[in-house]
Amino acid sequence: MQKQATLVLIKPDGLKKSLTGNIMSKLAESKLVIIGARVARPDRKLVEIHYQHLKDKPFFSGLVDYLQGKLHGEPYDRVLAFVYYGENAIEKVRKIVGATNPEEAEPTTIRGSYGRIMTSGLFENVVHASSDPADAEREIKLWFKPDELVVDLYPAKPCAHNNQPALDWA
Ligand code: UDP
Ligand code: MG
Repeated sequence: MQKQATLVLIKPDGLKKSLTGNIMSKLAESKLVIIGARVARPDRKLVEIHYQHLKDKPFFSGLVDYLQGKLHGEPYDRVLAFVYYGENAIEKVRKIVGATNPEEAEPTTIRGSYGRIMTSGLFENVVHASSDPADAEREIKLWFKPDELVVDLYPAKPCAHNNQPALDWA
């Protein structure tokens, strides 16, 4: 099988609960490698695009607030973003992450171990992981610039940033 890349986000609740180390230890069981990492404070627009498949759900606005860290407050109004890379990366990471609903997730998964359902009904499930190849590509391009990854995953084109030569997705 060809190597795949997948986006992982440690959501604001994961940061507030000091779970970064635990989450990364669990993900290391996959033997995948990290090819991109950054801390991000996404604007509303980016999060709305990230979760565009859920825009008609009643919980959409609360979900966007959640990923922006508005429910967890400063200094947790941010996420850690990673690109994991290797064979079958998308499925391997989803398996370790567990089901969307933390009450239904296997107890040994990240979401089963650390997630909860908020009183509002929103699933506070600690991490995001891409669900299929098309989503992974879309999400990685949304959260990372070409030169923030150490593997050339997708075609890129030269551009200028602050009058300096840079790269953008083609
Ligand atoms: N979510 C929720 N309630 C639902 C479905 C989704 O609160 O009924 C939230 C949850 O935080 C989830 C995110 O919306 O992680 C994105 O939903 P998606 O269906 O893409 O699930 P995922 O890919 O994260 O497992
Ligand atoms: Mg999803």
